Amino acid sequence: MSRRDLLAYLRDFGWRDVDTARRSASRTPARQAPISGGGEPLEAEDLGEMARRLADCRRCRLCQGRKQVVFGVGNPKARVVFVGEGPGADEDRLGEPFVGRAGQLLNVMLPSIGLRREDVYIANIVKCRPPGNRDPETDEAAACMPFLHRQIELIKPDVIVLLGRIAARFLLGTTAPISSYRGRWTVWHGTAVLPTFHPAYLLRNPAAKRESWVDFKKLKERLSTGSGNEG
Ligand code: URA
Repeated sequence: MSRRDLLAYLRDFGWRDVDTARRSASRTPARQAPISGGGEPLEAEDLGEMARRLADCRRCRLCQGRKQVVFGVGNPKARVVFVGEGPGADEDRLGEPFVGRAGQLLNVMLPSIGLRREDVYIANIVKCRPPGNRDPETDEAAACMPFLHRQIELIKPDVIVLLGRIAARFLLGTTAPISSYRGRWTVWHGTAVLPTFHPAYLLRNPAAKRESWVDFKKLKERLSTGSGNEG
């Protein structure tokens, strides 16, 4: 096996420091490489292992422009999973979903219904930044969706909140205008789902915060009573 093949092989197994490993070995103890163990992300038994296995993902073209895979963040046993569309520039740089302006708004909205960011889990339809913040393409979402499915399967939340039309399009398969179904409970694979406006939309359309607040109160009600506010 040539050195180039070996490097490609190790990279496939999630070892991201392979280029520098040989050079640094003689000087300092090599920086600890992320323990990936390689393997199929969908077979990971927990979110951390899954994130490590996905860190070098090349399953779609979004890998070409991203800085890093933005896997998801939050409580692995969260009662609520929030799903956005995909990382923006800030998320791509910092490796965490919803850390830019939309995320700051979400951080304010959560405590308004008694939730802290660290209580919930936050993820996206696609885990790599679409160039220029364009919408994810259908094939990009298709390549990434199995990982969101598995995240949800591992977390087993009571509720999934879909932030915006792109999340609803790819999770529920609807292309209807979001205003026609936001705030209406539905079910996805046995889990209650509440679609609502994306925080970035609220930043552009502050008047819609009123309807968003109605949706968030429905979420609060559902979490405190386990039901209610259908439709
Ligand atoms: N918008 C999203 O949909 N997701 C993020 O992570 C950030 C902004």
